[in-house]
Amino acid sequence: MKLTEGHTPWSGLDINKLNFPQLENKQSCDVVIIGGGISGALTSYVLTKQGIETILLEKGHIGTGSSSANTGLFQFMNDDPLSELIQSFGEKKGVGFYKMCEQAVENLSKIANNLSFDTEFRRRSSLYYATSEDDAGKIRNEYDTLARHGFNVEYWDQERIKSFFPFSKSAAIYSPNDAEANPLKLIQTLIYDAVKQGLKVFENSGVETVTYSDKNVTVMTKSGIIEAKTIIWATGYVTQDWKPDRLASLDSTYAIITEPIQDLSSWHERALIWETNRPYLYMRTTLDNRILVGGLDEPLTPAGLNQNKITLNGQKLLNKLQELFPTFGDISISHSWAGVFATSKDGVPMIGRHPDYPHSYFIEGYGGNGTVYSMLAADLLAEAVSGKEPEVLNWFSFKRPLKINASG
Ligand SMILES: Cc1cc2nc3c(=O)[nH]c(=O)nc-3n(C[C@H](O)[C@H](O)[C@H](O)COP(=O)(O)OP(=O)(O)OC[C@H]3O[C@@H](n4cnc5c(N)ncnc54)[C@H](O)[C@@H]3O)c2cc1C
Repeated sequence: MKLTEGHTPWSGLDINKLNFPQLENKQSCDVVIIGGGISGALTSYVLTKQGIETILLEKGHIGTGSSSANTGLFQFMNDDPLSELIQSFGEKKGVGFYKMCEQAVENLSKIANNLSFDTEFRRRSSLYYATSEDDAGKIRNEYDTLARHGFNVEYWDQERIKSFFPFSKSAAIYSPNDAEANPLKLIQTLIYDAVKQGLKVFENSGVETVTYSDKNVTVMTKSGIIEAKTIIWATGYVTQDWKPDRLASLDSTYAIITEPIQDLSSWHERALIWETNRPYLYMRTTLDNRILVGGLDEPLTPAGLNQNKITLNGQKLLNKLQELFPTFGDISISHSWAGVFATSKDGVPMIGRHPDYPHSYFIEGYGGNGTVYSMLAADLLAEAVSGKEPEVLNWFSFKRPLKINASG
């Protein structure tokens, strides 16, 4: 599966300490993590912080999978509103899941603030607006649900929105505790610091076969072998090539980043902006005064991602930005790209054991909040491999019954 097409914008760290050798011998460890995207990076960091002997295998280079296409918005609110998750799963699980996402953004923030390099991680507020007048009721209902369950949110009416932004929308939810980062710098720095904590990393070391015995797993690459007690698959969307999950579905999604804009003062608090429409439009600013815009998701076709569509949809995304912010005048696109994008059919990621694969855990943080799910997974799996498997992993089970809410 080709995960990205076009030109992604991220420049990495200005250090050359991130080239890792190919695996060429036999090694052993407690946990072998497969995949050097954000899921593998966060899990490596958390495990090695706890002193767990960990090896990471990446088939290409660190941070070149879907994570290279990530637009870097980290939000506690999900693709599926809390009110709909409560309908699907009941209050305990719906609210519990939202609380876990809120905590995951906090945990990510704590980690990012203690890393060796600036990853452009910044706390940001989010503005979630009603796309049309008809959606004002959805916003009110979602705000009431979030507020009733203790989430830190404000209800903004039309006047308030107009006083802070150059556009008019009938209603919005404003929430203060989300975040953004340069996803490539975040991955690279996590790996850099995890190595200081004892992580061993091998690039160009794709896993070809795995054999399972009673007590451990043996992982084989083209030129090396790892024996481990536990394997964590952090192979992202390509996992669907060899282990299709009935809960997963694949889309194409599009994004652009603009050339720098001189004056961003009409963008209140550089908030992350998104909307009630599905698929939704979303946007944010960057530290070097560019604007990232993404959306226009559509089902992935067998033809995959293509450059013509990237150009066409890039222009559509730019038009949508200009409709909202006419204040910016002429804006030009600096990079445009597309990515495969996986979601889970019931709005909750898949994390945990799979009955067909002994001694194994999977991280499939499918959905718009993929990075938040990767953080949540890293913490849950760190507990699990330490011998205290959290009960809450049941919520993310691969074998859970499929529940689709009314609008899903
Ligand atoms: C355009 C776009 C915008 C997005 N924006 C956001 C956003 O704003 N916020 C957000 O939270 N999420 C966003 N996402 C989702 C986010 O990018 C994903 O959730 C995230 O990148 C998944 O990370 P991962 O580490 O699980 O997978 P990946 O980044 O794909 O990493 C998996 C790694 O595994 C390696 N691998 C695969 N098979 C093997 C093997 N056999 N052996 C060894 N290595 C192997 C691959 O080479 C790859 O490096 C966006 C996605 C796209 C496409």
